[in-house]
Amino acid sequence: MSAPHLTSVESDLPDLESLLLAQKKAALADPMPDHATRIRRLDKLQNVILDNRARMIAAASKDFSNRAAAETELGEILPLLDGIGYYRKRLGKFMKPQRRHASLTVMPARVEVRYQPVGVVGIVVPWNFPFFLGLSPLIGALAAGNRAMIKTSEFAPASGDLLKEMMAEIFTEDEVTVVTGGVEVATEFTKLPFDHLVFTGSTQVGKIVMKAAADNLTPVTLELGGKSPAIIHEDFPLDEAASRIGFGKGFNAGQICVSPDYVLCPRDKVNAFTAAYQDAMTKAYPSLRNNDDYTGIITDRQQARLEGYLKDAEEKGAEIIRINPQGEAFDGTRKMPLTLVLGATDDMLVMQEEIFGPILPVIPYDTLDDALAFVHARPRPLALYYFDWNKGRADDVLARTHSGGACINDTLSHVGSDDIPFGGVGPSGMGHYHGEEGFRTFSKAKGVVRKGKFNSTAMVAPPWGNFMYKQLMLLQKMRFRKRKIS
Ligand code: NAD
Repeated sequence: MSAPHLTSVESDLPDLESLLLAQKKAALADPMPDHATRIRRLDKLQNVILDNRARMIAAASKDFSNRAAAETELGEILPLLDGIGYYRKRLGKFMKPQRRHASLTVMPARVEVRYQPVGVVGIVVPWNFPFFLGLSPLIGALAAGNRAMIKTSEFAPASGDLLKEMMAEIFTEDEVTVVTGGVEVATEFTKLPFDHLVFTGSTQVGKIVMKAAADNLTPVTLELGGKSPAIIHEDFPLDEAASRIGFGKGFNAGQICVSPDYVLCPRDKVNAFTAAYQDAMTKAYPSLRNNDDYTGIITDRQQARLEGYLKDAEEKGAEIIRINPQGEAFDGTRKMPLTLVLGATDDMLVMQEEIFGPILPVIPYDTLDDALAFVHARPRPLALYYFDWNKGRADDVLARTHSGGACINDTLSHVGSDDIPFGGVGPSGMGHYHGEEGFRTFSKAKGVVRKGKFNSTAMVAPPWGNFMYKQLMLLQKMRFRKRKIS
């Protein structure tokens, strides 16, 4: 096997195969890292995050042209530290083999499940939370005893370079390694025979990635996107709804996979909600152009995409309300005002594509059943937000809808809750990480039966028709009778 190196002599592509081989070899040499080793890795991760806090904030801000420091703190650094603390506390419990029931046919035996590291985990990162979406899967992977290769996004290069530097400082290349690069690198990366692949990105690219992984039968966790609805019940106070939904839309200028994509609002309350939303957003962001609290759009291309949605909606008859309290001009900047779209229809791009920016269509509905029917008629979303103080009704909405996750009377906060799984459903993704589910995702649950010196199998083994076999069949007849179906 050739020695791992970052850049091959022949091309600019990193030598991905050598990197993976080195990691697989190291995983074979230490197949079941003990508790102390895993904690040491998590602690190193914690320290490097704490040491680089200011640099992470600066790098993300550079990538976005401006990113509020508080957003990098709350959306990247804090949930990473929380995630490390979560596994630090529970790792011993998660790692323990679980004793399971021994069925009649295997008795006497000890039956258990062992959670074994899968080996090497590949992690593909999008640009919108360039640290959190690389390191959060890494935390789960390391806790479960794995090694990992991370591919950063070409659209957040300053963050990607810093992540690479941070990981190289604390891990050897055969423990954790970061590769940077564009689609060419990403394509080769996702073709590698990882033991598990976590892809976070668009649904469209997710399909390509799953096909590439299928060639190796590599299991995938796909963290994708979609249009996450926010439904306001008619009894819910509109100023509350506006500020809670607005928080989820203003954060990172709406460039979040779980940002509320559109609002379903009782028809007679659309005007009042529109006013309350403008009011809430004006209070949160009294100015935009030079306001460091308000994040820019990641690239000119993304900005043009979002402007294109607005132009398309306007041309097709929608009303566009740009919330621009100072009446500022944004030419030459990547800032874009929070914008409401009224009268959006299905033939508009803004209702066809995931928005992933500061635009919010408000769709009127007549009855709650109509609102749910609107959601059911569309692909299953990554998140669903429902605003209602009535617990029974909220439970009913949760039971009647499918979404990756959900918040009642809030937005975004389920992602930062470290003890619940995070993941999509259908076109918004598959599989989970975070919490205990994350540990299990990155572990092989190996079922093990351990027999002792007494060989019960020999007593029922051929020649068939022996006494023990007959007893077993008799017992089986007594245990399994046809049931009356009510
Ligand atoms: P993207 O799909 O364009 O890119 C994501 C990653 O995939 C990047 O690292 C990119 O280099 C790589 N990539 C691009 N083309 C590829 C190919 N052909 N083969 C393999 N890899 C390829 O997504 P993006 O624009 O970076 O991020 C925005 C999308 O990500 C949105 O749809 C958003 O909803 C989604 N997202 C989902 C989550 C989640 O947790 N579910 C979180 C953040 C973002």
